[in-house]
Amino acid sequence: MRILFDLHTHTRFSTPRGFSHAVGSVAQNLGAALAKGMGVGISNHGPAHVVYGISPKAYAALAREVEDANRAAGKKRALLSCECNLTSQKGTTDFSLLPFAPEVVLLGYHKGVLQREEPLFFWRAQRGGRAFAAKMTAALISAIEREPIDVITHPGEYVPVEYAALARAAAALGVVLEINDKHPMTEEQLNICAENGAYFVISSDAHKPARVGCFSRAAAAAKNAKIPLERIVNCDIYRFCAGLRVDKLAGFAQSIRETSTGFSTI
Ligand SMILES: [Zn+2]
Ligand SMILES: [Zn+2]
Repeated sequence: MRILFDLHTHTRFSTPRGFSHAVGSVAQNLGAALAKGMGVGISNHGPAHVVYGISPKAYAALAREVEDANRAAGKKRALLSCECNLTSQKGTTDFSLLPFAPEVVLLGYHKGVLQREEPLFFWRAQRGGRAFAAKMTAALISAIEREPIDVITHPGEYVPVEYAALARAAAALGVVLEINDKHPMTEEQLNICAENGAYFVISSDAHKPARVGCFSRAAAAAKNAKIPLERIVNCDIYRFCAGLRVDKLAGFAQSIRETSTGFSTI
């Protein structure tokens, strides 16, 4: 299958405090994507992450880098995105802290995030079992009901979720579940999501340019679970008319489909 874009890549903007985390510039991520005939999402961590979150003040500079990289490429191939964080059991996120809306919004649960009232602490998940999974699922559903989230990243990573309920709500609201190359869902989890109507996106979650567009584990997981290719929104046979929020990328995808060369299939 040919993948048209990799929506989930980080840059050095995800390393604002000097800790070793993500390296590379927007231009480098875009260059790596172009070499594979793909577009790319620049999805740094949202500002509520204590260590890796992008400062809201840096967002304008990031947006400029994305614009400059696209101009240098002579075509729009990079999207300004953000991997926002869930910040409470109520489903609040740090999307509202961003000074302006990204073109694509991802949402994930991460450790090391400033939690607001009714916090969702990672360590509680270790002994919370099903009750914690229900809370986490409700929080994610509340977030996608209220905010313009396009993709839920690595569902079930770090903390458990109820896959059937999450997949049903995501499908009803037009939100896509990610098959993350670093943290892919299991075959069983993917099957539960697919049976409940989920659409998916395959992403690298690259933290360095060399990893942009690397999806072998995620693609194998999708293949083993026999996920229909038309349910994978960055697969070249998806037609952007399923009523999903990412359908706004139809023009972006079409342009890549028509003009990119040198793509590889996975
Ligand atoms: Zn993440
Ligand atoms: Zn990420």
